[in-house]
Amino acid sequence: MTAKTLFDKVWDRHVVVPESPETPAILYIDLHLTHEVTSPQAFDVLRSRGLKLRRLDRTLATMDHSTPTDTAQIFGGLPIKLESAAKQVRQLEVNCADFGVNLIGLKDERRGIVHIIGPELGATQPGKTIVCGDSHTSTHGAFGALAFGIGTTEVGYVLATQCLLQRKPKSFAIDLTGRLSPGVTAKDLVLAIIGRIGVNGGTGHVLEYRGAAIEALSMDERMTVCNMSIEAGARAGMIAPDETTFAYLKGRPYVPAGEDWERAVADWRTLRSDPGARFDRQASLDADNLEPMITFGTNPGMVMGISGRVPERPGDAVFAKALAYMGLQPGEPLREKPVQVVFIGSCTNARLSDLELAARVLKGRKVAPGVRALVVPGSQQVKREAEARGLARIFVEAGAEWRESGCSMCLGMNGDTVDAGQYCISTSNRNFEGRQGIGARTMLASPATAAAAAVRGRITDPREFLH
Ligand code: SF4
Repeated sequence: MTAKTLFDKVWDRHVVVPESPETPAILYIDLHLTHEVTSPQAFDVLRSRGLKLRRLDRTLATMDHSTPTDTAQIFGGLPIKLESAAKQVRQLEVNCADFGVNLIGLKDERRGIVHIIGPELGATQPGKTIVCGDSHTSTHGAFGALAFGIGTTEVGYVLATQCLLQRKPKSFAIDLTGRLSPGVTAKDLVLAIIGRIGVNGGTGHVLEYRGAAIEALSMDERMTVCNMSIEAGARAGMIAPDETTFAYLKGRPYVPAGEDWERAVADWRTLRSDPGARFDRQASLDADNLEPMITFGTNPGMVMGISGRVPERPGDAVFAKALAYMGLQPGEPLREKPVQVVFIGSCTNARLSDLELAARVLKGRKVAPGVRALVVPGSQQVKREAEARGLARIFVEAGAEWRESGCSMCLGMNGDTVDAGQYCISTSNRNFEGRQGIGARTMLASPATAAAAAVRGRITDPREFLH
């Protein structure tokens, strides 16, 4: 029997009609996650054609991109301030009611960023095909699922047929040896990977992260790594499920129980690349000597160790434009650079362990004068747990803003934005021009680095605070 990769195994299980030179494969989708931004047009198409949803039981809707993070606008009776956001929220409510879709609504205690609540609820499981009209669907690959973002038109196809037309991507193994040192996080690891292979390095491929450095990570950390696969251009990122995965999933609401759980785990154990399985590409990175990473440019591949200097690339016009936007010079160190905003949030780094890490830095300290620090939990469950464990109190006492869950300042659709020219240390995943607001200068980093910058008001190696 031919040795197969993890990706091959999941792909093969879901092919309804194989691809041919003329036609893509028809792939069955186990779970369709949908939200308020990329679904309105798709529901309109269904309506205009008189179509129904093919599988209501495999469709889950929530709202996250446009939702306010201000408590009064969610629970306090105040209307959603931003009209465009209010309209999207209302439209999703109408669409879900009209088509019978299971909606985790604005005031629901299970609400949060779609890529955080899928795993929290246990809807994300090994071996599933999972799609969502959002690039960072790759997050769910941390469980050994094949998960990727789709466009608005494809959202309509999946709603109507539960299938998708796909050409099979190639496979790319990323071997991660060694172990992260204290104060160096999964975010630093994935930024280093993107720095190594480049923002187009994974184009046309599904990445499989493997090796000792990956096996040592918690599920929260694995999700951070897979989340940013798309920033290396990859279609998806995957990690083989193991005991860490099963322990995370056991007992969650959507996960099978009793004998069904035992059967599921027995099956999930087979979801790993066979010895000798052939990958189209391979790369490796040693985690042992990594330091905290920070971006200096306008894509996540423009990244460096925190102790380094902005590189020089004479004659590279794109690079020069990025540095001009960021207001930086080649050869300049980033340490000690003043920052004005700190954002701890997003589907990359707003899980409980991320907030615990940030709180370790902020405990008993104050946010520096002139710095705005926003802490936005990834879900209402994370929010409740952070409050129960005293993390929220640490943030508030430090002078940070403690908000309701949502995408928030990751992309600023709800009005949480960074002003033009301001430097923002952000735990999100994209530092594109204007992503956090017109003229905003985003620097991506871990929750520890972000919290350290909040305390000092300058870019700081977080290891100074983590002993
Ligand atoms: S937090 Fe950011 S990257 Fe994640 S789903 Fe929301 S907008 Fe997309």
